[in-house]
Amino acid sequence: MLEAGVTIEKALAWARTILTENQISDDGVHDSAAIDSKVLLCAALGCEQVYLHTWPDKVPNKTQIQTFQQMIEKRILGYPVAYIIGFKDFWSLRLAVSEATLIPRPETELLVELALNLALPNTSQVLDLGTGTGAIALALASEQSKWSVTGLDKSHDAVNLAKKNGKDNGLPEVEFIQSNWFSSLSSEKKFELIVTNPPYIETDDYHLKMGDVRFEPASALTSGEDGLDDIRFIIHESVNFLVKGGWLLIEHGNRQGDRIADLLVSKGFSNVKIEYDLNEHARVTMGQFI
Ligand code: GLN
Repeated sequence: MLEAGVTIEKALAWARTILTENQISDDGVHDSAAIDSKVLLCAALGCEQVYLHTWPDKVPNKTQIQTFQQMIEKRILGYPVAYIIGFKDFWSLRLAVSEATLIPRPETELLVELALNLALPNTSQVLDLGTGTGAIALALASEQSKWSVTGLDKSHDAVNLAKKNGKDNGLPEVEFIQSNWFSSLSSEKKFELIVTNPPYIETDDYHLKMGDVRFEPASALTSGEDGLDDIRFIIHESVNFLVKGGWLLIEHGNRQGDRIADLLVSKGFSNVKIEYDLNEHARVTMGQFI
């Protein structure tokens, strides 16, 4: 229990200890208990992190301390930080999140970088499949104002959230449509670029019982026994929606790169490449439809 009248410094120390004791946020590498404590206290105080460092002796008011305590209690149950505070920063954007969608991950910024590095025409048509919060679609649109970007998701709640994120980030021109993969697209529609961070986890992967994924929608995470059901479908269908020379970029799990590269090659894609994230995990496989 946090007593009223504690300073910022004491509140942080209390939260860090209790999160560490409960082995929350512990990936064995980062002091995530300290990071989570700061993010949650900032949310409770409505301040930036620099404020905590500048004013460690300030005493938050009673409501702020109560809010912080409730947030820490949720976190102890494993509830993801992003769901507690209601947003996640991704690329240069602040994105509202909800339990209808996956929480954007920093690894996905690799996919955004790779897409931006392609030599695509200025006025490209771009499609983000399974857009969730709209993270990838909005990041691309924020860098390439002439691209015409569409995000699809089969969840209505996700589509509404993505639309809100577009407006809140000054990108209302990005179009979000409810669609089960390509189902709502006219067969005439063609894209220079299709990107996706689809569900790709194996249905019985033990990781699903650990950390944030326990609270995220299974429909955004798992995809059959080998995790590749949706990716196979996307590769198979995407050729009907790509212009000649168009690219398909797929985010995936660590051990799936070779199989996805083979699928792309067997569907006739060229220039197939597997790209690695900062942890040196195979993370994105891409190919060009020529
Ligand atoms: N990268 C997420 C994880 O491993 C999974 C995201 C996904 O299935 N697209 O937690």
